[in-house]
Amino acid sequence: MVYMSSRLKKDTPLSDIKGIGPKASEKFGRLGLETVGDLLRHTPVRYEDWSKPMPISKMKAGDYVIFRGTVEKAFQRRAWRRGFSMMEVRLKDATGTISLVWFNQPYVRYGFSEGQEIVGSGKVSFGKRSLTIPNPTYETVSEISDFGIMPVYRRTTGLSSKSIWTAIKKILPITEPIEEFIPHKVREIESLPEVNESLRALHIPINIREAERARRRFAFEDLFMVQLINLIEKKKLLSMESPVIESDIGFAKEIMSSLPFSLTFSQKRSLWEIMKDMGSGRPMNRLLQGDVGSGKTVVSAIAALMAAKHGCQTALMAPTEILAEQHYSTLIRLFGSLEYPIALVTGKETSVFYGPGLESSVKRKDILEDIKKGKIRIVIGTHALIAESKSSAIEFGELGLVIVDEQHRFGVKARGKILKKSGLDSHKVPHFLSMSATPIPRTLAISIFGDLDLSVIDELPKERKPIVTRIVPPSSREKAYDFVRKEILEGRQAFIVCPRIEKNDDEEVISSNSSNEAKTVKEEFERLSKKIFPDLKVVMLHGKMKTGEKAGVMDDFRDGKTDILVATSVIEVGVDIPNASVMMIESADRFGLAQLYQFKGRVGRGPHKSYCLLLSESPSESAINRLKVVVEAKSGFELAEKDLALRGPGEFLGDSQTGTPDLTMIALQDPSIIRGTRRAAEAVVEGEIRFDEFSPLEKRLDKLRGEFHFE
Ligand code: ADP
Ligand code: MG
Repeated sequence: MVYMSSRLKKDTPLSDIKGIGPKASEKFGRLGLETVGDLLRHTPVRYEDWSKPMPISKMKAGDYVIFRGTVEKAFQRRAWRRGFSMMEVRLKDATGTISLVWFNQPYVRYGFSEGQEIVGSGKVSFGKRSLTIPNPTYETVSEISDFGIMPVYRRTTGLSSKSIWTAIKKILPITEPIEEFIPHKVREIESLPEVNESLRALHIPINIREAERARRRFAFEDLFMVQLINLIEKKKLLSMESPVIESDIGFAKEIMSSLPFSLTFSQKRSLWEIMKDMGSGRPMNRLLQGDVGSGKTVVSAIAALMAAKHGCQTALMAPTEILAEQHYSTLIRLFGSLEYPIALVTGKETSVFYGPGLESSVKRKDILEDIKKGKIRIVIGTHALIAESKSSAIEFGELGLVIVDEQHRFGVKARGKILKKSGLDSHKVPHFLSMSATPIPRTLAISIFGDLDLSVIDELPKERKPIVTRIVPPSSREKAYDFVRKEILEGRQAFIVCPRIEKNDDEEVISSNSSNEAKTVKEEFERLSKKIFPDLKVVMLHGKMKTGEKAGVMDDFRDGKTDILVATSVIEVGVDIPNASVMMIESADRFGLAQLYQFKGRVGRGPHKSYCLLLSESPSESAINRLKVVVEAKSGFELAEKDLALRGPGEFLGDSQTGTPDLTMIALQDPSIIRGTRRAAEAVVEGEIRFDEFSPLEKRLDKLRGEFHFE
């Protein structure tokens, strides 16, 4: 099937391989896998031990099981629609029978004959007549003699874990050996297996220990690179200068007294740390961490005003246009009386501009000119917009401070791009402040963001009321709707969040058999607007809508023109609607804990008592226990610590939801990796391990640095 004549190279595109071809390679592309190298480094999410099947009689709906049995009967059902088919197998073991059902996977039909023995895994659900396992992964026993450890990969529509594994098994033996990135000395000290041996063990492990050892190796490699880049950046920053923005205590006091509230102690402390950095002449490189609503934006805005007073410009970069607009209105609301012009630059032809005492819409071109001349001191936009490299991009007169909201890594890249346009002398860089509401415990933060100093806002403004959080079982759904209605009749608004926008085809078929499918925005919107709340104004928001459309929906909701916003996680970060008092989360078990915590922070931002309702149809006990952690946590940091202790960082950051095993996250669970990578990275940066002794690492670093680089 595959090229046998010449060996595959790491960078051979998957589409060039016979037996994969353009159609399947497009599916691999959806997982971010373009080349042979990408595929071989596609790390299994987990491993299953197929040598220990569960007796069929013990299986219950909701269980994830390993099965092994013989095919009693195999039959194909007629197609409902053109292009759809269904295959069913009655599987028997010594204790009972169960159906296995595959939808729309034509290749399956050739796989079975009566009496054949198969082994596999899947999730049990209620079928029409009996318990059923929809779309299980399986192997026929004759194919593999020894059922040991089966890797499970992140999959996508039309590309199962099994087909990924099959492709990897074919490709691995005919690929040229891959270059080792980790210096020999480091591998020796840390006892890490060699890269090609590790790839084999990662995908075709003989036992779990070997698989884990391979995973550890790649996790080490990943964090090693991160640490190395951090240290290199840090070292480079030490040799650079930034504008000296002297702390002006009088001015700080003036700003604070103009606010309708007083800053919390942690806000003041963070502001002080920022001011010290900005006054030092050395580039500030600081991460400002704090729960949603803890007042990070206010703190960073005061820093921006300091820079403005000093004559420097600030770029405030938000992850989305909605958030950029929101930052803009927050700044105008709180600091509109101060002298400094603020501009919001979006993708639109006109931009908004706020000069002392007046707001107006101006042609984008004219605003850009004023920014270049340094007339506008604070510029708000999206990461993408400000970091754009086109000729129409923003250029600054004297950019003193860059503030990045919620996207550290992107921020570093963006900083590189806007540096050229900062208007500063060539040996100077702007100060850099990154904001994050992801409550990563300090120890983790230092390892991931080793190049950053850390300021933490660990308290909420005093008058903020705690948010009542409840898990709502399926039987209480109606009550939850009644509650939402009651809140709306009292003048409040509600968010209803679903994990997905819409179903794709094969899932539509499966859902007829399954009680725990992820809710979709489109379906819920239909149902809620027509059946449940026909008398209320229900709207929807999701990532497939046009930018203008999205902004319109958000504006109407913010202005109180609509009652219920059904949305995907687009509303996750930073959206500020003080009148909203209910956050209802559908299929809550599908989200990461950090994400759930972010959703919860969308309400309780005004004077009203607020509620977070977690709905889950999952019968699984562990899913419910996980939700309980969100209910009980008093702060994001507490949640972080608890969950870290419970499950490790990957799960906390939600990777089991997307299924991506973020190797960095795996690395961070292991203190020996954190220490080891740090030691190794230091050795490289200090020159104990020289690049010229080890060119593959240098090459790889150059590539990574290209992504993160300042120039
Ligand atoms: P974050 O960016 O950390 O999520 P924001 O800076 O957007 O938080 O603040 C959330 C809301 O709380 C805003 O409406 C802001 O005006 C308000 N706020 C900020 N700091 C305080 C404070 N010390 N006391 C009362 N309200 C505050
Ligand atoms: Mg914010």
